[in-house]
Amino acid sequence: MGKLARPGPGKLQFIPLGGLGEIGKNLSAVVYGNDIILIDCGLAFPEPDMPGIDLVLPDITYLLENKDRVRAIFLTHGHEDHIGGIPYFLKQIQVPIYGTRLTLGIVEMKLQEHQISLHPKSHPVDPGDTIRVGSFSVEFFRVNHSIPDATGLIIRNPVGTIVHTGDFKFDHTPVDGHVADFHKLAQVGSEGVLLLLADSTNAERPGYTPSEKTVGKTLDRIIEQATGRVLVSSFASQVHRIQQVVESAVRHGRHVAVVGRSMENVVQKATELHYLDFPEGTWMSLDNILKQPANKTLILTTGSQGEPMSALTRMSTSDHKKVEIMSGDTVIISATAIPGNEKMVARTVNNLYRLGAEVYYGPNIGIHVSGHACQEELKLMLNLVKPKFFIPVHGEYRHLVHHAQLAREVGIDPSHVLIGENGTVFELTKDSAQIVGQVPAGKVLVDGFGVGDVGNIVLRDRKQLSNDGILIVVVGMDAQSGLLVSEPDIVSRGFVYVRESEALLDEARSRVKSALTAMEGGNLSEWSAIKALVRDTLGRFLWDRTKRRPMILPIIMEV
Ligand SMILES: [Zn+2]
Ligand SMILES: [Zn+2]
Repeated sequence: MGKLARPGPGKLQFIPLGGLGEIGKNLSAVVYGNDIILIDCGLAFPEPDMPGIDLVLPDITYLLENKDRVRAIFLTHGHEDHIGGIPYFLKQIQVPIYGTRLTLGIVEMKLQEHQISLHPKSHPVDPGDTIRVGSFSVEFFRVNHSIPDATGLIIRNPVGTIVHTGDFKFDHTPVDGHVADFHKLAQVGSEGVLLLLADSTNAERPGYTPSEKTVGKTLDRIIEQATGRVLVSSFASQVHRIQQVVESAVRHGRHVAVVGRSMENVVQKATELHYLDFPEGTWMSLDNILKQPANKTLILTTGSQGEPMSALTRMSTSDHKKVEIMSGDTVIISATAIPGNEKMVARTVNNLYRLGAEVYYGPNIGIHVSGHACQEELKLMLNLVKPKFFIPVHGEYRHLVHHAQLAREVGIDPSHVLIGENGTVFELTKDSAQIVGQVPAGKVLVDGFGVGDVGNIVLRDRKQLSNDGILIVVVGMDAQSGLLVSEPDIVSRGFVYVRESEALLDEARSRVKSALTAMEGGNLSEWSAIKALVRDTLGRFLWDRTKRRPMILPIIMEV
């Protein structure tokens, strides 16, 4: 794969490096002439088949090869899948960052954790602001989502206007009163839009996403009826949810405490920036709130995904330092489980019931709404913007396919709807759009301090170790004669319980010994041949006896 030719005159490229064919690690490039601007810089969480991996980042090889042309990053909002990659990115490419105040506030907290200071060239913007960078002018417009201060982008350039929705839904009665900017969308639509890039997360779901306010009403009823303590778990970034919960607590005479580091951080930052607003005296420290009568208290906590180390999960296993769940407690899990987390959430719910709590959870009782647009809202976006070309983004492949179908339904020329994946190079002129190539766009795995050093081979070993364990075979050989000088020794971990498998391991030892003895004087000067012989002999023997395939690690000691 050679270095990609830059687009010729009158041509514009859109290159997603993450976020297409997956939900996570959003990062895309828009290229015109000598200028590259980036939209978002996120991370993804590891899949179940990535043992030991902490985070997944997009592959930025293409950007590193074109480092001197990267002008700026424009952030749509403060969710991890849009900003989580920034600390890693800035270590390799330093560029100005633009985003709304809360978004940059969250980025700043993140960078502090990594002990890097926010790049001096980060610029807070308000929805409606326009930033000029190289040949681009980028206007932020307000959308509704599950975090305040979420925006989409109108990217004007010499070829034609691009509208990127960011993560969005349309909420006519948002908690903060800021409705998505319908006027702006209609206006840019009538000016003429070359390309729409739109959020596909809920493209399979018919209808409309209900307003966040409907959740507030349901939560208020539950909190009103609770006779003991109330615990509410949600995403820390769900600032409007938190606002509604706390307002309800105040209404029903309850003090509020916050437990869990990410929740404490976001609440502090959002309050500081005036995205959260409460009467004086609402908040109380955890120590103090535990001394109040149960029916005067509400605890906000992390752990809505059943994450093993989170506050709610620890409480559910009686493992939390301060909070003990008891009968009379009402626990509300105000979130849906992200795919892959369902079992952990279910375990937490089971444990909370065991301790006597009343638990509210799950998708159908009105205690959570999605932050993403459903089909009718997606059609509204398409009809407002009326793009010439459409590329669905932010979704697994099936979501992209469904979103493309919606675009055709509202009358967009089927040949003007393009589906691609990470690394696809889309090239546009004033009246054409096509896929012209591919740049590297794999996964960069983060494990501890290591970024990208764990690849497929390490992962394959980890999977084998976790499936069937390891067997280490130590063989002493005479360097001159190539003769076996001692009995082979076998050490195993995670394969069998050694004390109950002595016969098996004895036989394994003698198999190794006879195989080596039979070969003595033959082809045994090559260590690699000896190792292969040990691996083959033992591998076959153990498979016959146990139907397991442990990793076999021969070690040859030269004596
Ligand atoms: Zn989001
Ligand atoms: Zn997202």
